[in-house]
Amino acid sequence: MTSNNMLFDQLFAAHQDSEKIFLHTVQTDYSYAQFHQLVNQLANALLQTGLKTGDRVAVQAAKSVTQLALYVATIKAGGVYLPLNTSYTAFELDYFITNADASIVVVSDKAEADIAPIATRQNARLLTLNADETGSLTAIASTSDTRFEAVSRGPEDLAAILYTSGTTGRSKGAQLCHRNLVSNTLVLRDFWQFTSDDVLLHMLPIYHTHGLFVACNLLAFVGGSMIFLPRFDADHAVQYMKQATTMMGVPTFYTRLLDDSRFDAGLSNHMRLFISGSAPLLAETHKQFEARTGKQILERYGMTETNMSTSNPYDGARIAGTVGVPLPGVELRIADPKTGEELADGEIGIIELKGDNVFTGYWQMAEKTAESFRDDGYFITGDMARIDENGYVVIVGRDKDLIISGGLNIYPKEIEGLIDTIDGVVESAVIGAPHPDFGEGVVAVIVTAEAGLTEADIMAFLADKLAKFKQPKTCIFVEELPRNTMGKVQKAALRERHQQIFNTSS
Ligand code: AMP
Repeated sequence: MTSNNMLFDQLFAAHQDSEKIFLHTVQTDYSYAQFHQLVNQLANALLQTGLKTGDRVAVQAAKSVTQLALYVATIKAGGVYLPLNTSYTAFELDYFITNADASIVVVSDKAEADIAPIATRQNARLLTLNADETGSLTAIASTSDTRFEAVSRGPEDLAAILYTSGTTGRSKGAQLCHRNLVSNTLVLRDFWQFTSDDVLLHMLPIYHTHGLFVACNLLAFVGGSMIFLPRFDADHAVQYMKQATTMMGVPTFYTRLLDDSRFDAGLSNHMRLFISGSAPLLAETHKQFEARTGKQILERYGMTETNMSTSNPYDGARIAGTVGVPLPGVELRIADPKTGEELADGEIGIIELKGDNVFTGYWQMAEKTAESFRDDGYFITGDMARIDENGYVVIVGRDKDLIISGGLNIYPKEIEGLIDTIDGVVESAVIGAPHPDFGEGVVAVIVTAEAGLTEADIMAFLADKLAKFKQPKTCIFVEELPRNTMGKVQKAALRERHQQIFNTSS
């Protein structure tokens, strides 16, 4: 091998000529060799289109094999991959394409007309890729050479920019270098014991760190296979689980499976591992899952900026409501949010992280980057947590979700955890809304299974369990909580919706 492209050489090169099936899709199967032929053709297409080393390739496309190959091709061709959530509008795309100064933009045929003026203004080349693998990119690739020599890229060179969902202000481009992605895959293989025998049921989007890096990098690295489905669908999950050994999902995948009577021990007995992350898994879901299948979901914690950082163990206790212990090579501390001073176990503070997994900073946002790191190099995650008596990390919420009422700190998770145990409650989200006397007042937004549960019932239940200042000042009953595609409850949207609830303006 003459090239030295860290990510490609270490994660993808070993199996590139294998005839083994890498991807099973609903329509067809792709061997590793076929997949890598496509990667090479796409890499040649990118160079023909004008890609230079370090250029950003922005991609908003429905999940497809070609899209996954485009990620590997961009890396192999020395580019920087920039995947975008499929639900972003043209207006939002304008920001990402401009901010990242993308030189190649790939969207669906349908979006082409809307994005064309943006690409023209940016002097970027616009190509198309559709859910059925067709488009102008595929057309160029299909006539390109099936061989491609990887472009040299070192450990510190950028591999990808993933924009964070950004609940406040503009979203920030998290820069991930080759070292970040490679190191995390190596750690996860050992920690979760992935081998070439694994078949992953893949129903996650591939514009996000979970579905793209955690899942695809890992399975390609170990030489396993993926059942590569467009999205979560209970019928597909039930149909294809029989052929899988492992599944990675967001919590909503698990609650939907539990809602389906076809999902039982018979269907899941042969499964080696169920992994959950990207949003909190309710302890109740963990317990119901175990009762139904006899298996414990393995919950882990990560974020775009840090890749995977903690995990419950493969062997050993997987404790509901916790995200486990720091992964090997990850330094984690719980710190005072203001001073950055490390807190004792049991105290609630902010999770700070250091290690090869941690990103190199936000794209062209030097100030935001500086604010996000301590002087000794720890990244301030914004997640509030404590270390429990077993040494496991228990997340209590985002720092921005902290409620300060009458000058006192209130962690929503504590209140949500209690409300969720009430008979008839499906789930809840506790937020702070501006309050004339207290600064913020506690609002409980509650989803119930049946009508009839009242605010008085909730308050009566909480009366002897929570200090008065933590008790909700009002309860709102809703049919469902607003969630993004990764299953995260959108608390910022809830806060906005209910900001007048205590009528501060009057
Ligand atoms: P993202 O960058 O979209 O992956 O979002 C990362 C955020 O998701 C983290 O900062 C956490 O707030 C949240 N998150 C990820 N995994 C978990 C988990 N297992 N439990 C609770 N929150 C999680």
